[in-house]
Amino acid sequence: METVVSGIRSTGKLHLGNYYGAVQNFVKMQHEYNCYFFIADYHSLTTHPTPDDLHGNVKQVLIEYLAAGIDPEKATIYVQSDVPQIAELYLFLNMNAYMGELERSTSFKDKVRSQPDNVNAGLLTYPVLMAADILIHKATKVPVGKDQEQHLEMARTFGNRFNRLYNTEYFPESFAFSFSDKLVKVPGLDGKGKMGKSEGEANAVYLSDSVEVIRKKVMRAVSDSGPTEENQPKPEPIQNLFDLMKIVSSTDTYTHFDELYNKCQIRYGDFKKQLAEDMIIATEPVREKINAIAADTEYLSKVAKIGAEKARESASKTIREVREIIGFRSF
Ligand code: AMP
Repeated sequence: METVVSGIRSTGKLHLGNYYGAVQNFVKMQHEYNCYFFIADYHSLTTHPTPDDLHGNVKQVLIEYLAAGIDPEKATIYVQSDVPQIAELYLFLNMNAYMGELERSTSFKDKVRSQPDNVNAGLLTYPVLMAADILIHKATKVPVGKDQEQHLEMARTFGNRFNRLYNTEYFPESFAFSFSDKLVKVPGLDGKGKMGKSEGEANAVYLSDSVEVIRKKVMRAVSDSGPTEENQPKPEPIQNLFDLMKIVSSTDTYTHFDELYNKCQIRYGDFKKQLAEDMIIATEPVREKINAIAADTEYLSKVAKIGAEKARESASKTIREVREIIGFRSF
């Protein structure tokens, strides 16, 4: 059976980008593959969380994984830092990851632009840690959103380079995976680019947002004064809202508003109201479970403990074999 690995950085609550780009695929894949889904707390250290925030955020992602339907009986759910073998593989892979290729990564360049005061080495080597996350279980499929495509390519480069260096075929190649025919990119509400945690509170809709908050955020989403010519192309903020509607609404609803836009008869108030209601319906099953799961701390610690044991078992086998390949031998 093919092995699947993916994770989400524990920098806070999950938003619809995480849900539709990644977690929904996790839920479907757990029935068909040998799945490892983790909470990426090592990765979150690039943002320097306080100890309390770090722990709280890890707990929040665990709760939301479970609320979204990841079943710990089917998939292995674990906290990244419970598996220190990942850090060891990261160290090994760093030795043949080159500065030039790391500096060229789009996500690194974005961070240099957006947070010039905190360009730490962890950000530069983020794709190496991600490669370690995947290679530690020798996974071949990685359910991620479109923004991670380049990192996956780098993970293949690092795995292949290791294989060439040591003249082995140890690491398999891994590929980004989505059940829809394309990788998903969920746009944000601010009219520019993707939904993300670092893009400001109003840009993202979170799984844990209340119904009232979702309505408020969507009604305030950036739009414009409306089309003036029939069939005119949609500017980015409007296209983004239509893309969101394509994700959460029925085809009939989408077609209805698309036709109104093309005939210059659309009223953005009605359009946004419909979008908010469909978003609320689409996320209701997850939202309803979040509070009940959050209250069951005994269950949460059991899930994390069992997951850590299963993940460490697979990871220590890989590290044992990798050490042998590299030439670390006992006397
Ligand atoms: P991150 O929050 O950056 O750790 O991302 C975790 C997962 O969510 C990755 O698989 C991303 O590809 C996915 N993801 C995050 N934001 C979006 C988005 N706006 N659209 C689609 N997928 C996303």
